[in-house]
Amino acid sequence: MAYNVSYTLAEALGFLSDTGARVIAGGTDFFPALGEQAAPAEILDVSRISELKTISREDTGWRIGAAVRWTQIVQAHLPSCFDGLKLAAREVGSWQIQNSGTIAGNICNASPAADGVPPLLTLNAQVELASIEGTRIIPLAEFITGVRRIELRDNEIVTAILIPDLPQNAHSHFIKLGSRKHLVISIAMVSAVVWTDADQRIEGARIAVGSCSAVATRLPNLESALLGKNTRDISDNSQIWSEHLAALSPISDVRGSKEFRIDAAQELCKRAVLASFKSESPNNG
Ligand SMILES: Cc1cc2nc3c(=O)[nH]c(=O)nc-3n(C[C@H](O)[C@H](O)[C@H](O)COP(=O)(O)OP(=O)(O)OC[C@H]3O[C@@H](n4cnc5c(N)ncnc54)[C@H](O)[C@@H]3O)c2cc1C
Repeated sequence: MAYNVSYTLAEALGFLSDTGARVIAGGTDFFPALGEQAAPAEILDVSRISELKTISREDTGWRIGAAVRWTQIVQAHLPSCFDGLKLAAREVGSWQIQNSGTIAGNICNASPAADGVPPLLTLNAQVELASIEGTRIIPLAEFITGVRRIELRDNEIVTAILIPDLPQNAHSHFIKLGSRKHLVISIAMVSAVVWTDADQRIEGARIAVGSCSAVATRLPNLESALLGKNTRDISDNSQIWSEHLAALSPISDVRGSKEFRIDAAQELCKRAVLASFKSESPNNG
């Protein structure tokens, strides 16, 4: 499509159906992955579709347009359960990458180390997909099916990420462990959402770990083991056992051995849960 113009979602879906174009948004994954190859003849740039560029409040949750960039997420006024996603947004590459890269591009690239996936899993995110045939919605946990594999048909684009409401007192946190502070692919990362009862005991917990399996994954055994616990219980390391991490299947690579990744994930889970008890928004606007 012509450069430097915006177009409607309907126009974009028609163009995709007619041409089988490759879809891009910020291009921060797409263009580096091309390497020496020439760019495809037909490219659909979804960052030019105005309907996809906003974060909005809906009846039962939040709608994050597919072309929303990481910087927008950092700057948006969102409830405290989004703090983990905001912390992850600040870890994606550098400011330049955060100004170009989108949340949908991150999940569509389906890297095991995609920073957006663990916090979105703890928010029970759903993915909205559209084609000229209509719209469908699937859970993020079913959308990413493997390394660089997603549940997306040739004529579809991701149009939004939908986040159902959580209790108002739900807080969240995200921790990324890398070999340096910035511009780094994680060795392990953990996102946690926690809400408590009147006695400050955990009433609900969602924990997700990235870079420790082909696809980032929730830890249901740990989530149920944490129910009823308070901060003192969690501070005692014995509350988070290796059995709670059974869903993980890390590999050994240049960044770390699988044994180190499991140890790191265990410690990061503890820190992320403790931080979620007292989380304050990293930036609300
Ligand atoms: C220097 C550098 C540092 C980086 N650091 C990090 C990091 O720390 N953490 C991290 O997680 N990532 C990092 N990345 C990867 C990348 O920036 C992010 O994954 C970003 O969110 C991708 O978004 P994008 O809009 O640029 O995606 P694009 O490159 O435009 O697209 C990525 C993939 O998603 C598809 N796609 C995009 N939007 C849609 C849509 N709406 N519907 C269907 N398919 C779509 C494209 O076809 C493509 O396959 C880094 C990249 C670079 C170059």
